[in-house]
Amino acid sequence: MRAAVYHDTQDLRIEDVPTPRPGPGELLVKVVAVGICGTDAHEFTAGPVQYPIHHRNPVSGHLGPMIPGHEPAGVVVEAGPGVTGFAPGDAVASAATTPCGACDRCREGRPTVCRRISAVGVHRDGALAEYAVVPAATCLRLEPYGLCPEVGALAQPMAIAVHAVGRGRLRLGEHALLVGVGGIGSFVCHAAAAAGARVTAIDRRPDRLKLARDLGAHETVLAGEGDVRLAGRGDADVVYELTGTAGGLETALGAVRDGGRIVQVGLHHGPRTVELLRLTLKELEIVGTNSLALHPDLHVALRLLAARVRGWRDVAPELIPLTDLVDGGIRPLAERKTTRVKTLIDPWATSVRALPAGAGVDD
Ligand SMILES: [Zn+2]
Ligand SMILES: [Zn+2]
Repeated sequence: MRAAVYHDTQDLRIEDVPTPRPGPGELLVKVVAVGICGTDAHEFTAGPVQYPIHHRNPVSGHLGPMIPGHEPAGVVVEAGPGVTGFAPGDAVASAATTPCGACDRCREGRPTVCRRISAVGVHRDGALAEYAVVPAATCLRLEPYGLCPEVGALAQPMAIAVHAVGRGRLRLGEHALLVGVGGIGSFVCHAAAAAGARVTAIDRRPDRLKLARDLGAHETVLAGEGDVRLAGRGDADVVYELTGTAGGLETALGAVRDGGRIVQVGLHHGPRTVELLRLTLKELEIVGTNSLALHPDLHVALRLLAARVRGWRDVAPELIPLTDLVDGGIRPLAERKTTRVKTLIDPWATSVRALPAGAGVDD
């Protein structure tokens, strides 16, 4: 089969490799669509960070060149020994991550901080290939949600957003401020609005703000002078900081109300200098959010994807072929030049094709 194989920094090749076989508890999936995100871009430009290219992953056992791709959806071709609940022909989406289920964190109901977590396409071979092997325990069938696999490939990033929204304990009618609505912020926007919050989005790009309105934001603010205005109001119950920048964190700290919560979603790649007196005096909470859980995050994500009648073409307009992965997908993402909020790859496509118009299998 054809696959994208990561060898080292800036060295991602399209190669012919043996089609994998599913082991116990695993599914062989014909990949219909797979998303790429900042993790893939960061590994390409500055990695390997998490990919086990030079050091063996202690959980997966993988060492050496690896197939990335951790946001997959496709159709089951074969179920490995011991798999129940899935049959050949089932369309599925995968959360990619597998918590161990046995460590103290898993037992206390915090699988996203499992001590032995591993993810398909990050710690072992993934789905930027014609076929992928994924643990059945990471998958949900798409048929009950009425979703096609192309839209199903948006489930993993949507589930990340659902988990983040939950970490803020966002309640019906609360005011949520989203700082930065490109990439995952768009999904957080949809999830927060669907959760019954009043959503304000701030971003430096007018096109992203328009999309935020389409995804349910009640108010949008152009970054710049808008930050000062929001800080003057200081009325956000929960702020989702999605940029991972010092300025974004400053906006969050200025705009949150006394007693409010800040969820740090964006990844900060360096230390920050922050005036923390207000953290104490305003009794603020700053919480992290990482990854996603199969239940309930992926399940809720699939419901949210299905609930948007107009479909997801504004977020992910098209699927690009595997041969375009680096120049048409990963490089523009890394250089922040991509026009798509979400880039999807169809490993079987020979040219760019449009995302199906609606959410469902009949579109
Ligand atoms: Zn991702
Ligand atoms: Zn665990």
